[in-house]
Amino acid sequence: MQYEKHLMACQPQKTLQVDSHWWSAALNLLLPPRCVLCGQPSGTICICEPCKADLPRLGSRCLRCALPLGSPRDTICGACIQNPPPFSRTVCPLQYEFPANRLVQSFKFKRQLAAGRVLSHLICESVSEQDFDIPDMIIPVPLHKLRLFTRGFNQAYELAAYTGRILNIPLGAGVLRRQRNTKAQSGLSRKQRRKNMRGAFYWHDSGKPARHIALIDDVMTTGTTVTECARVLKRAGAKRVDIWVAARAIPVNRQAGDPQSSSQTQSLSANTAQRS
Ligand SMILES: [Zn+2]
Ligand SMILES: [Zn+2]
Repeated sequence: MQYEKHLMACQPQKTLQVDSHWWSAALNLLLPPRCVLCGQPSGTICICEPCKADLPRLGSRCLRCALPLGSPRDTICGACIQNPPPFSRTVCPLQYEFPANRLVQSFKFKRQLAAGRVLSHLICESVSEQDFDIPDMIIPVPLHKLRLFTRGFNQAYELAAYTGRILNIPLGAGVLRRQRNTKAQSGLSRKQRRKNMRGAFYWHDSGKPARHIALIDDVMTTGTTVTECARVLKRAGAKRVDIWVAARAIPVNRQAGDPQSSSQTQSLSANTAQRS
């Protein structure tokens, strides 16, 4: 698998880089990496094996939107068939519930970069499990400059930069921008969410975007933000956009086992998903 090769190729290089700094090795000896969730000594990615095994994983899910499917035989949900989103795939390792939400919140609101690196590694592991073309560029979902000023950093940018470094994919920084500081999406209807996001992003580059783009964010909740970003990238000339997120929030009516979820799903091959 191409991604596995990338992942394998990048790991020794990264180790070599880290080991070549004597101070980094010395720091690891003095302060061995600890698990960001339980504080116990861990491997280099700052999560111990028991905590990693306890993280809530997404089960059988739609290849396009990462919401649960009614049957493991299905690949695409009925909602994506009826109304195909402007992105082809969603790569996502975790379900946004405890303790994955703790990991995301420590990173996002407490600026715990080690938690962000754990999330990046989990995204890379999910990417390596899938069989599709490597994107030409990674682009983070942008924050409005006001939000960036108050929060101090863009968590999506940090994820994109670190993930791109591991997988050796160029980072498209500053090419997709947010021109409107939208209000919070929670509590809004689907129609209101779309209206709220309309015109919020724009392509800020004289050239066209890369042909195949991975758009990165920390959490995908309703999907309205990444849908609007993907639409802008496609309109600017990208041929394919995939979404890479660390965690997916699952609405109550789409939880696995929900009868509506199973009646809405249909079988489609992964190739059909990529073409549509
Ligand atoms: Zn732990
Ligand atoms: Zn779907």
